[in-house]
Amino acid sequence: MHQFKYHQGALHCEEVNLQNLAEDYGTPLYVYSSQTLRNNYKRLHEALGNLDHHIAFAVKANSNLSVLRLLADLGSGFDIVSGGELFRVIKAGGDPKRCSFAGVGKTTEEIRYALEQGIYCFNIESLAELEFINNVAESISEIAPVAVRINPNVDAQTHKYISTGKAENKFGIDYEETMKVYERASALPHIQIKGIQMHIGSQLTNVSPFVEAVKRVIPLVKELQQTYGIEFFSIGGGIGIVYEEALASGPSHWWSEQENPPLSPDVYARELLPLLSALKLKIVLEPGRYMSGNAGVLLTSCLYEKKGRDKTFKIVDAGMNDLIRPALYEGHHEIVPIVERQSENTVIGDVVGPICESGDFFCQNRAIADFQQGDLIALMSAGAYSFTMASNYNSRPLPAEILVDGTETTVARKRQQWTDLIAGEL
Ligand SMILES: *Cc1c(COP(=O)(O)O)cnc(C)c1O
Repeated sequence: MHQFKYHQGALHCEEVNLQNLAEDYGTPLYVYSSQTLRNNYKRLHEALGNLDHHIAFAVKANSNLSVLRLLADLGSGFDIVSGGELFRVIKAGGDPKRCSFAGVGKTTEEIRYALEQGIYCFNIESLAELEFINNVAESISEIAPVAVRINPNVDAQTHKYISTGKAENKFGIDYEETMKVYERASALPHIQIKGIQMHIGSQLTNVSPFVEAVKRVIPLVKELQQTYGIEFFSIGGGIGIVYEEALASGPSHWWSEQENPPLSPDVYARELLPLLSALKLKIVLEPGRYMSGNAGVLLTSCLYEKKGRDKTFKIVDAGMNDLIRPALYEGHHEIVPIVERQSENTVIGDVVGPICESGDFFCQNRAIADFQQGDLIALMSAGAYSFTMASNYNSRPLPAEILVDGTETTVARKRQQWTDLIAGEL
């Protein structure tokens, strides 16, 4: 569920007309809904009920300071994958003691910074990394809290680029090797064993891979509880969202997210709680996409229509440098006009950006509203892995980001100018 709806023919984010935002701040423009973020957090938190749990937002999904601050205020912790993300969390008022540091390639500088800031845990992904963290911790007389990221070797049934829990992926440590890594960890003087972690993939729309992975890892969790007294089990992120909507049932339904997505927090909790509550451990969750994915849109304006020999191209002012998901992993975004159409005038075509790449498209051969030069459209569900992956490719300044709360709007990030493009260059 989200807070992007048509009111009297105009697409709104909460109480704010998106047309006005586009006029005030220009396009391309990211717009986020505070209420949607809060609702998503609360729904998951409430679904988990009495379970001793800790929600750690995966910062790589959306790292805007205003978004992080809003989540920190709700009590969220953070899952970080770089020193820069930890820096952002701290600047946003987040608590380092509620941060876990994931990722296969942590550097000396990052490890030292995280130790100095007193993070909750390093999730380690190899024996070499474990030894390395021990050495860095020794060099500054600190003790590093760690969990081992186990690769449970389950098929997450998602796109191959966002599947992480199969033996062939670079992530985590093989099930069979895990105990040996813990043995080594227990022998290292600057390491403290804290927990165990897994993350099997992203955009899962079915609960069964989660259930399978949890079931597979539980025997090990119990063994670790007895041997090392671990305090937490992190089951990672990965809860999928609804990207694709049928353009069915008339002009007032251009955008109407399903009320019951295939994988809701309730379904997730119903299936996993019985397995997890029995453990009497703190359960950590690391949702990224679930929390912010449907809380954002990217507004863009139609520059030109080009009728090719075989098809129609709608050329818009956003490009793959602003939103790379379609190009990177065939990500789907609904494309809807900001001014609601009175007729079902659709055309089959491609929506493309100005970038000099054939991969620069937002959809191909899709039935889309027949919008024209100057019309504003919204790319829906652009709150996760969207702005965070934006680049300056083709020397295009990064778009602005706006955070809406009720009737209020905050410029959460200013649009870059051309001078920003060359700042730092000689
Ligand atoms: C990316 C990532 C997440 C978040 O994944 P979502 O699919 O966005 O929920 C959680 N944990 C780890 C270790 C990750 O790498």
